[in-house]
Amino acid sequence: MSKVYDVLIIGAGPAGLSAGIYAGRARLSTLIIEKEKDGGQIVLTSEVENYPGCLEGESGPTLVDRMSDQAKHFGAEKVYDEIVEVKLEGKEKVLIGKKGEYKGKTVIIANGATSKPIGCPGEKTFTGKGVSYCATCDAAFFEDFEVFVVGGGDTAVEEALYLTKFARKVSIIHRRDELRAAKSIRAKAEANPKVHFIWDSVVKEIKGDGIVNSMVIENVKTKELTELVADEDDMTFGIFVFIGYEPKTKIFEGILDIEKGYLVTDENMKTNIEGVYAAGDIRVKSLRQVVTAAADGAIAAVQAEKYVETL
Ligand code: NAP
Repeated sequence: MSKVYDVLIIGAGPAGLSAGIYAGRARLSTLIIEKEKDGGQIVLTSEVENYPGCLEGESGPTLVDRMSDQAKHFGAEKVYDEIVEVKLEGKEKVLIGKKGEYKGKTVIIANGATSKPIGCPGEKTFTGKGVSYCATCDAAFFEDFEVFVVGGGDTAVEEALYLTKFARKVSIIHRRDELRAAKSIRAKAEANPKVHFIWDSVVKEIKGDGIVNSMVIENVKTKELTELVADEDDMTFGIFVFIGYEPKTKIFEGILDIEKGYLVTDENMKTNIEGVYAAGDIRVKSLRQVVTAAADGAIAAVQAEKYVETL
């Protein structure tokens, strides 16, 4: 018979790892199940400067490495598997993965969100061949090249600034004529001579021959289409897409309460099923940050501990 853990945690991002630290430290038998690699979206971030106590020059991956070590130190186990089905009703919860089945008295769902695609022709074909969703991962490929950043939020502008360390020119394509990004971030971009703006525009098609070499954009006000073609010497350019995230809640549909794609919890991270909690970007909340994800994870683990005591 397979082990029944006190706490099963789906996802090893800041929310899941923080839950692992708190659950492990409370001496609960804890298993973190991560689909591919620890960290969630924060590992896509080149610079973290607003997590309390983070080091100067801290990157997403370095911060997450220390969180992972801390969870391990407190005894949380980890397995790499993708959960494809869940059975959450009743006292024994079952998570079915591609590699195995996991049983727990409680479940903390912290599997976050994925990058939202533009959805235009060519985007899928050229992903990894010029189209990227991660500046930290791919910026170095564009040393001295031209790159375009799609989006106008904090992520797009922060990552555009990071890209200026590599690319010779960074153009932000935004669908409005005003950035959504916070004032402080916006000011840095406006002051950077490498950063340019293409306002009121959306990407309609990405083209290439093996790798990206052009892109069609549309001015949403005039409906004018423009084809941006790679410089003759470069033959290619980068397109970095940061237009928000989509929560990964598909497997919970019809089981847990969902609002606009996000899991609904109370302030104690409780979902509509007893012993099941959600933490981090996957849940309905007003601020999706590492610090709020970590806080959610801690609260969920403490609630799980209280619930386990009642069994
Ligand atoms: P976001 O705030 O949702 O911004 C998404 C951006 O993409 C917006 O500018 C939006 O345009 C644009 N967009 C959305 N769908 C689009 C589409 N289909 N085509 C073209 N453009 C599209 O996402 P985010 O920047 O990833 O940030 C997510 C959360 O993390 C936010 O709460 C943000 O504050 C936070 N964050 C904080 C920091 C920090 O504090 N340092 C860093 C990164 C992220 P509109 O503006 O027209 O809607």
